[in-house]
Amino acid sequence: QAKQQGRNHWQFYSQQRKSMSASDIILRSQLQQAIDSESLQLYYQPIIDFSSGKIVSVEALMRWFLDDGTAISPLEFIPLAESTGQIIPAGAWALKQACHDMQMLHAAGIQRVAVNLSALQFHRANFFEQIETVLKETQTSPEMLELELTESILMENTNNAISVLERLRERGIRVAIDDFGTGFSGLSYLKTLPVSKLKIDRAFIKELEQSLSDQVITQGIINMAKQVGLEVIAEGVETKEQIALLKQFGCGYGQGFYFARPMPLADLLIFIQNHDLT
Ligand code: C2E
Ligand code: MG
Ligand code: MG
Ligand code: MG
Repeated sequence: QAKQQGRNHWQFYSQQRKSMSASDIILRSQLQQAIDSESLQLYYQPIIDFSSGKIVSVEALMRWFLDDGTAISPLEFIPLAESTGQIIPAGAWALKQACHDMQMLHAAGIQRVAVNLSALQFHRANFFEQIETVLKETQTSPEMLELELTESILMENTNNAISVLERLRERGIRVAIDDFGTGFSGLSYLKTLPVSKLKIDRAFIKELEQSLSDQVITQGIINMAKQVGLEVIAEGVETKEQIALLKQFGCGYGQGFYFARPMPLADLLIFIQNHDLT
């Protein structure tokens, strides 16, 4: 039935799309096969609490490998799946898989799994019910799930967004604003949203050591986020120097290649064992 639904949406959105390149058309049908055969994968990247050095949570990131092993980047296939509507079945699969894997992650000491959502998923009429169903089916408690949304998702249909966010909060599901700083919303707007975290986009972290303006912006985001009671995660942390600055600025959490790259569940479980969680 899910597959059937996926196809219907795929048709619906593909009619809306203006034009597709030949390679996009091939990719779209390959992606449909991957969705239908459930051969997409989820990788997990640890999120570290700077104060304790422990892994508190992980972010689930979709991976797609063709039969010959070629990896297609999410930066390529996620936008495609969003434009064709294929993100609906693909995203539903990712949500369920992440909640399923959370059982093992929880046993390994991880508190929470963060799942990325696209606008199409979030603004669907039955979105909240879908979350409830997945939690129930996978026996996951709502505190173990975190949803990552971008600013643009929340700005598209603000009234609907706020009511969904309020329901999620009541239910105990955390929401993080992803890629913060790249949109146009600003912190005063954030203050009105029932979210609990924001993730500073990698764009500001990348040249943090060299760029005084990035330091000023990052520091400003952290200070204001704290004032409105939000936790802050820095994305794309790659060096010790960046960590030192982020700690100095009062940033609570970090994620990036310095700590670990996204990896399959089995590898993550080994990584956790070697990374003292006690
Ligand atoms: P995102 O949610 O902002 O995820 C963080 C991205 O930064 C990931 O890229 C991750 O691999 C990368 N990253 C983490 N640390 C570092 C670092 O230290 N250096 C560098 N250079 N990169 C780092 P990835 O996995 O390629 O995903 C790209 C984007 O695709 C994600 O950005 C997210 O927007 C989207 N995406 C991935 N999985 C899903 C999914 O299941 N659903 C939806 N809707 N979107 C997804
Ligand atoms: Mg994310
Ligand atoms: Mg991000
Ligand atoms: Mg990003």
